[in-house]
Amino acid sequence: MVDLKGQYQKIEARVKESIVDTLDATSFINGPQVKSFQKNLEDYLGVKHVIPCANGTDALQIALMGLGLKPGDEVITADFTFAATVEVISLLGLTPVLVDVDLKTFNIDLDALKKAITPRSKAIIPVHLFGQAAPMEEILSIAKENQLFVVEDNAQSVGANYTFSDGSKMKTGTIGEVGTTSFFPSKNLGAYGDGGAIFTNDDKLAHTLRGMVNHGMYERYHHDVVGVNSRLDSIQAAVLDIKLEYLDHYNESRKAAAAKYTQRLSNHPEITTPFRAGDCDSHVYHQYTLRVSEAYRDDLVKQLNKKEIPCGVYYPIPLHLQKAYRSDRYNNADFEVTNQIVKEVISLPMHTELGEDQIDHITNTILEFLDKK
Ligand SMILES: *Cc1c(COP(=O)(O)O)cnc(C)c1O
Repeated sequence: MVDLKGQYQKIEARVKESIVDTLDATSFINGPQVKSFQKNLEDYLGVKHVIPCANGTDALQIALMGLGLKPGDEVITADFTFAATVEVISLLGLTPVLVDVDLKTFNIDLDALKKAITPRSKAIIPVHLFGQAAPMEEILSIAKENQLFVVEDNAQSVGANYTFSDGSKMKTGTIGEVGTTSFFPSKNLGAYGDGGAIFTNDDKLAHTLRGMVNHGMYERYHHDVVGVNSRLDSIQAAVLDIKLEYLDHYNESRKAAAAKYTQRLSNHPEITTPFRAGDCDSHVYHQYTLRVSEAYRDDLVKQLNKKEIPCGVYYPIPLHLQKAYRSDRYNNADFEVTNQIVKEVISLPMHTELGEDQIDHITNTILEFLDKK
């Protein structure tokens, strides 16, 4: 699915040097590498504050803690996302409210979002799923009308741009009150271990969050708020600082691979290739996810496995049907799209090192299989 080795080999000398420098300096926690990466990521994103932390799940949890939400407050998010998004809501004693997604983009459905708002709603977590920007302009306006915080889960979309109707652009993750990302190795900006970050333009919130990631300390051994231990280590920061220089190039490689897949697959009647809602900047293809007729999807997965072509089903079960997140509040009929697409989606290999010959082999295998049906 990913070719971390091929990507690594191209920057190997630089990464090794940087890791060795970090070892020699022995400042393993909060070393200068972390400060440098933080500053460079702030510049890249055009955001005032980046707060590095240990992983993308912590980033979401700490973002919600920083907003001062209280048990019983409702937080609305998409039914079709990685479980981390809803997990942190439940973990904090907040009430998750899952809503259906849009059939074309797989991002949160705006009508379902509006319908889910109650007097207890306090925040919305749009997920920029598979690398594609969620409809932020509409989400911001719904949030403003209903006095809700917007927390962007940008774990899959770092580097994507959202274009507003006046033509102005902002990086995803920097548009709401707060945004979060993950540096899990397979993400678009991947570390060589775990890592994450929180983004905000709000000085006060940034200050709160910086203490929260470090045991609620703003002054050594003075604990002003309840915090956690969630820091990005210096070695990961050293790796990320180098990889950040290549992020736009990496995302361009993903887009080029996506364009080739689409060119070869889009005419087949049983296949729906990914829809792009905005311009070329709005989708950085963390995943390249097709919809295939329900009747063939599982057999196609088997066929690809047989031919040793990796593929994935992200995600096979709607969150509202997962044991941990079931609730009497939900009516299964309200999740028509998610219930359908979990049976149709299939994600193909997507990374920065995909060659034309590999794409040909993958797409030919898919087309041959479907044509025999
Ligand atoms: C990967 C991911 C996360 C969690 O990130 P980790 O660094 O693995 O904790 C959260 N949300 C989404 C949508 C993700 O894809």
